[in-house]
Amino acid sequence: MKAVYKHPRGMPDILPGDIGTWHRVERAVRHTMHAYGYGEIRTPIVEKTALFERGIGEATDIVEKEMYTFPDRKGESLTLRPENTASCVRAAVEGGLLQPGSVHRVWYQGPMFRYERPQLGRQRQFHQTGAEVYGVAGPAIEAELILMTAALWRRIGVFEVAQLEINTLGSSEDRSAYRSALVEYFQAHHEQLDDDSARRLLKNPLRILDSKNPDLAELISRAPQMADHLSDESKEHFSALQTLLASNGISAVVNPRLVRGLDYYSHTVFEWTTDRLGAQSAICGGGRYDAMLADFGAKNTPGVGWAMGMERIVALMETVQQENAASSDAELVPDAFIVCTIKDDQTWPLQIAEQLRAECPTLRVVQNTGSANLGNQLKRADKLGARCAVILGDDEKAQHKVTIKLLTGNSEAQSVPVAEASQALSSILSR
Ligand code: ATP
Ligand code: MG
Repeated sequence: MKAVYKHPRGMPDILPGDIGTWHRVERAVRHTMHAYGYGEIRTPIVEKTALFERGIGEATDIVEKEMYTFPDRKGESLTLRPENTASCVRAAVEGGLLQPGSVHRVWYQGPMFRYERPQLGRQRQFHQTGAEVYGVAGPAIEAELILMTAALWRRIGVFEVAQLEINTLGSSEDRSAYRSALVEYFQAHHEQLDDDSARRLLKNPLRILDSKNPDLAELISRAPQMADHLSDESKEHFSALQTLLASNGISAVVNPRLVRGLDYYSHTVFEWTTDRLGAQSAICGGGRYDAMLADFGAKNTPGVGWAMGMERIVALMETVQQENAASSDAELVPDAFIVCTIKDDQTWPLQIAEQLRAECPTLRVVQNTGSANLGNQLKRADKLGARCAVILGDDEKAQHKVTIKLLTGNSEAQSVPVAEASQALSSILSR
């Protein structure tokens, strides 16, 4: 059958055969959000364009080149949501959630849209799950938000392959001092910048640090460091976060280049990455964005949150499951594979196998099943990756001996009395 219509580029279907892992992640998300006391929020998939221009920032990749923006029938500019932080803040303010002194923990999930070059792990319609907290300053809530991502990774079995990176952008004063230092530095080396970075220089110089262009790596590595522009208070905030994470068993790498997209970030930013997914390695990112709430009408209300990419999480889970399946196969590799060429005797090989298992309880002793000639049985041992073959033939039986052959390398087979078989086997395997 040939399809007359195809899905839009970068917006693939998820078919019933592929939905199982999604459901597992979604269930784990619900459990985790419930356990931490977060309430679900659902916002529309389109918003007025100005919300994102303001909430994400004009000088970001998203607003500059990734939004799906269109006029509605009355000419109002609408945009398919590229992320959900700005919408959640809008909804919380508009819905009257944010009374002074109140704390709100919300979470969401759903499709997001960005006009990007589709590739593995990067789509134009993709799904995010996120959590946001309004009304709490200080590092403890940041630690909570990070710990709940860690709890989720553990629940879905990807904790071991996820690495946390953190950074601080300081207060808005620290940041603007740093910004000036960066502009001065990069201006002095203007001729080395590429087009993207030259454009960012005046609009959003921190983003130059995030450049993936290898030609800029050297220049960026010598750039002024945020750490040298932090107030004591900002340093304390950041080190308190690190202590909280460490005391909960989460190791975090400080990455001074981690700046992230959103214009509003201050103090803590973080990202979880993995080495299992190739180039699109970020699975979750977040940070503190206190200034956005003031701008959206909620004065003195801090905000902090994260979002994770569901497609990448699903892919990561599937990768880890495959790796585990492969290693559980490895667990079944026999140390000794019992090969028997005696016709019509099942008693003796069974006794030998039992004897070896009893005398060498740590060894995996697997008996060939079904009769076959010696060559075929040895091939089978090879295929299973067996380390040794224990050969039982008519001669062995008559002499009450066994022949043990190491299958790796090309050492000689050894013939030993049955009473010494397990000792010989152990010593051959330990070579
Ligand atoms: P990247 O550097 O990979 O473009 P980002 O900084 O643009 O990521 P965020 O806006 O922080 O991403 O979104 C949070 C998470 O959403 C990312 O860590 C990633 O897992 C996922 N994500 C972002 N863009 C896409 C996309 N186009 N396709 C699939 N997942 C995405
Ligand atoms: Mg991006």
